[in-house]
Order: sequence, then structure tokens, then C-alpha cells
Amino acid sequence: MNLVIDRERLVSEIEALGQISEAEPPVVTRIVFTAADLRARAWVIAKCKEVGLEVQQDAVGNTFARWKGSDATAAAVGTGSHIDAIPNAGKYDGVVGVLGGLQAIRALQQAGFRPKRSVELLIFTSEEPTRFGVGCLGSRMLCGTLSAGDAAKLRDANGESLEEVRRRAGFEGELRGVRLATGHYHAFVELHIEQGPLLEREKIPLGIVERIAAPASANIMIEGAGGHAGGVLMPGRRDALCAAAELVLEVERAGRSTGAVDSVATVGICEVFPGAVNSIPSRVRLSLDVRDTDLARRDGVMGEIARASEAIAQKRAVSIRTELLNADAPADCAREIVQALADSCRKHKLSYLPMVSRAYHDSLFVSRIAPTGMLFIPCLHGYSHRPDEYAAPDDIARGALVLAETLAKLAS
Ligand SMILES: [Zn+2]
Repeated sequence: MNLVIDRERLVSEIEALGQISEAEPPVVTRIVFTAADLRARAWVIAKCKEVGLEVQQDAVGNTFARWKGSDATAAAVGTGSHIDAIPNAGKYDGVVGVLGGLQAIRALQQAGFRPKRSVELLIFTSEEPTRFGVGCLGSRMLCGTLSAGDAAKLRDANGESLEEVRRRAGFEGELRGVRLATGHYHAFVELHIEQGPLLEREKIPLGIVERIAAPASANIMIEGAGGHAGGVLMPGRRDALCAAAELVLEVERAGRSTGAVDSVATVGICEVFPGAVNSIPSRVRLSLDVRDTDLARRDGVMGEIARASEAIAQKRAVSIRTELLNADAPADCAREIVQALADSCRKHKLSYLPMVSRAYHDSLFVSRIAPTGMLFIPCLHGYSHRPDEYAAPDDIARGALVLAETLAKLAS
């Protein structure tokens, strides 16, 4: 089989999709179910239909474009990613996996390949949490991590429910029907830009993901007592910010305590109330993000932070309350898919780096119901989620080539 990726076409399609944006191009902003998102979906669907894919959408807008295999009863091989984009983002995140997947299917068709299993291109709804506060909304629902009942209750910043917004966007049917059965996919492979600097630094064109790290995130509310910065003397103080400062350092210490490179712990937000120069901080909100590739180790770090919170609360006579927002389990990629990707790299004489995905992706959730793998390509300086995000045409084409070869192997 002589697989040829039409690099120019793939790059020009990525450029064209980048023009469909709520912001002035080259800035890409495509929030789920806005006019730009719906136009981008229609554009991709038209491209899928051009090559004979059968398109279906579920009640939350996950889009399935199927190239029918010769064995209609066999579980399909899936590939794909997302096309929604956070405010002020770039052209490549997610899009490379969708349009690269489409280009891989075209290359297989042109090479005369006939799949036994159907090959399905998936465009997940709302990988980005921008509108409803939950990342990987579509894939969480597909895999049952987020129930239809909980999803229906989600609201955006205007107070509109997911239920109202998705129906207005034209997605009918019951949210209950979104969940896929285990066994729907024989295998799933996602192509994505790395969103980190390793491949570029090592000058290696491809990364094969072996594990996907997952975050636990929480809000930590600290309540002490406010007062006049001159009037309240030091012995009587219950300064919430001083307690927060100690806790932030404990978070750092807990993240380091495992000795594992994959353990990371971050406080990214510190809101101080009332926030005046002459007022003792009475309340502080901290955000907490703890990630690891090992669930037990990550929970160990969370436990240490909880113990430190209790000790600080007691010592400083403040209250510290932790509200857990999510705690997804990390995932291992399927060995047979890692192997298929590696075989394909070797066949095309491309070097690759075994990697950990430090950001999480729709694949993390798909891995709950199907053997899953991810393929990374380099991106300039590791930049992502910003307008100057960039992946080189040759790297994108190499990713699509290895993806095509891998899909062929899995669908045979
Ligand atoms: Zn992405």
C-alpha cells in the first residue's frame, strides 16, 4: 500500500478552518454551540461527506463520520479530536487530530485500502471547559463518566442550561442516548499537537503516548477574620492570607515529596478578600491542581495537602474548606495500539519518543470504554492555547501518515 498524505491540502484546510472564528483571525475563538462552532462543524461535515463518510450526530453534538468497513458487525476503529477552541487560541489544538484524521482516511482510500472494520472519525463536543466549566464534555458523556442527568444541569455563565443551549443549536434527542456501549470501538487513536516542548527540544518528529496524566482539582476556601491593618494587633490576628501562604508552600512540598517526575501540584489562583491595603485579609480562595500518571500517588499528594490544611487551620484559628471539583483517574494507553503506532513509525523510518501526555484529552475518557492510544507531533516552543500556536506542515503530514498506517493495521 502506497500511502501519500496531501500535505498542501491538509495545511490549507487547517488554515481555512482557522478562519471560522468569533475573533479576528489569526486568533481562533470557537466556544461550543456559538455560531462559529456551528459553522465550523458544518464545514467539517461537508468535507467528510465529500469522501463518502456517513455522518451522524448525537444529542450533545458529538459527530461521527463513518467509512464503512466490509464487516458491518465488527467493532469500529475510531480516530478524531475536537474543533472547539478557548478564547484567544490558535489553529492547531484539536484541529490537527480531526483534519489529520480526515486526511488519513483520504490517503487510505486513494491507496485502494478496503477496511474490514469501519473507520470512524469523531469530533468531540466541547473538549474545552470554557462554556460549561467541564472539560471533555462530549467524551465524558460518551463514556459514562458524566451522566445525562448531571450534564443536563450544567449551566453557562448566562445561566442557560446545556439542555436549552444544545437544543437551540439543533441537537435533539435524549442526552441519555449519548453513552456508547463498551465494545463500540475496537480501538481509538487520537492525533494531537504535543502542547509541550519535549519533541521540539529532542528534535524527534513523533511522540507515542504511553500514559495520560489526569488532574484532581479543587477550590480551597480559607476564612479568618478581617479588621483594620492598624487597629488589630499581631497577637489577635487570624489572617487568611498568611494561612494561604503557608498552605501554598505545603502544596509545593507535597508535590515534590513523592520523588516522581510525574507528580505535579499547583496553586494557580489566589483571590484575596477584601483586597485593600489597610485591611487584614478575611477570606482567600485558592485553586488547586494536582496531577500524576499514578492514581494512588496522586491521591497520596491530595491526602498530604488535606493534612497540612488541618494543621494550618488549627494553628492559625482559621477555617479551611476544600471543594473537590474533579478527580479523574489517569489512564494507560493500550499496549497493542502503542505497538501498532511504533511499528508504523519504524516502517516509515521515523524516530519517535515514548511519552506521557501531561495535558488530558478526550482519549483519557475514551480509554474507559476502548483500547486507546495517542500520537503527538511537535509544536513550536510547546505553545498552545494562544494565537501563535504553530505546527510545521511536514510534522503534521508525518503525524497523518503514521495515523493512516495505524488505522489500516487496526481496521484490517
Ligand atoms: Zn486539544
